[in-house]
Amino acid sequence: MEPIMNQIWPRVFQRIHRASVLSRRNHSGCAAEHATVPASTSSRPIRPTLLVSRLYQPANLRDVGPDNRLQGEVTCKSQRLMQQAGLIHPSNPGCYYYLPATVRSMEKLGRIIDQEMQGIGGQKLDMPSLCSADLWKTSDRWNLMGKELLRLKDRHGADYCLAPTHEEAVTTLVSHQTTLSYRQLPLLLYQITRKFRDEPKPKFGLLRGREFYMKDMYSFDVSEEAAYETYESVCEAYTRLFTRLGLRCVQVQADTGNIGGKLSHEFQLPAEIGEDRLLICGSCSFSANIETLSSDQTECPQCKSGTLTESKGIEVGHTFYLGKKYSHIFNAAFSNAQNKPCIAEMGCYGLGVTRILAAAIEVLSTEDSIRWPGLLAPYQVCVLPPKKGSKVDEAGALAEELVHTLGETLPRLRGEVVLDNRTQMTIGKRLKDASRLGYPYVIVVGQGAVEETPKYEVICQQTGETMFLSKDGLWDLMGRVETV
Ligand SMILES: [Zn+2]
Repeated sequence: MEPIMNQIWPRVFQRIHRASVLSRRNHSGCAAEHATVPASTSSRPIRPTLLVSRLYQPANLRDVGPDNRLQGEVTCKSQRLMQQAGLIHPSNPGCYYYLPATVRSMEKLGRIIDQEMQGIGGQKLDMPSLCSADLWKTSDRWNLMGKELLRLKDRHGADYCLAPTHEEAVTTLVSHQTTLSYRQLPLLLYQITRKFRDEPKPKFGLLRGREFYMKDMYSFDVSEEAAYETYESVCEAYTRLFTRLGLRCVQVQADTGNIGGKLSHEFQLPAEIGEDRLLICGSCSFSANIETLSSDQTECPQCKSGTLTESKGIEVGHTFYLGKKYSHIFNAAFSNAQNKPCIAEMGCYGLGVTRILAAAIEVLSTEDSIRWPGLLAPYQVCVLPPKKGSKVDEAGALAEELVHTLGETLPRLRGEVVLDNRTQMTIGKRLKDASRLGYPYVIVVGQGAVEETPKYEVICQQTGETMFLSKDGLWDLMGRVETV
């Protein structure tokens, strides 16, 4: 190990040194390309301004009209808006490029999921997507999954699948730990990874794809009672997560399907294009997927007085109490207080990461403008300087300064403020683009900003409200912006 490190380290240092010389040259030499950066007195490295003209979001929003042709078949609003805004780009059926703004948003969602899952004791791991058929044959799901399981052979002719879920893999992993004690339970393991499903008809953009991101968590408990408690705590964490996102999800009783087990709930986001049919009681909290009831049932089975009404929903989360189904097959055991081996009680819990993102855009957006859950917007603030050559041209420098001071004085906004430097365009045209992309806050630095008591026009796109704020008022508002 050591000789290799000796060879590598001097080279790494050389590279770091060269990079810092280059970045210094960039800041002084390419003033036309980059925004001018005010001299910093602190030793912290200067962050380059985020310029709209340089963001890789290859869509010319101005040319997008109703008859504008988009690549691939467009089947719903979120897919159309996301393609038009250059957030995703279709590759082959059911697969998309997630472009940088989308990745920023997914990373934010990932951080919220981490907070909620770790808040109830979840530990993050990462399991292989390429899974041996042997594992799936042991649980018999190699046969049960049918054509939805994406199968392949390696060069030796051995069968594999690209995993859509990991009950077999995680249970095998836990069974290999022969020293697992009841003191270590409940054990909650989760991952956020790409999953695969050979959909016969991929559609609705990121809502029904063949390759997507999911958070899947698996719990191991000492008893059925303890497993139910864990199940409850995960459902509560899911409810907190959707509340933080401002999404009104309903938790409905569901069928256990091919995952198996005794108890199951879906988290459904009511939406017109939803593919699931739900029955919701008007009088009590009862709601269920129609698959679990007879479809002509109109009386609520819980309160007996309420009437059930049908609604459509997008499934964004699913929870299952599994019992010993997998732990028995793969021998996932722990030693109890008497030091005797016992089979663990399991649960599994999914959240569709890419699906939550698309479903949120589907239900929050208008026909032509994206609206995000505030916490998930790729960038929180867009600052608009005046058009080049206008009589308040000097406001341009103020806008640039504003972007920097916001990031410097409000650490939460660091990396969250973009400058729409396309000053060849009018403010009006850029405002329209900003509305379509859905930045939660748009700050116009125009005429008002150069007056003796500067005023900034601020548009809160979530509420549609426009305000004219003093510098103090602006700082007060920006200080309250929540980021993750
Ligand atoms: Zn009821």
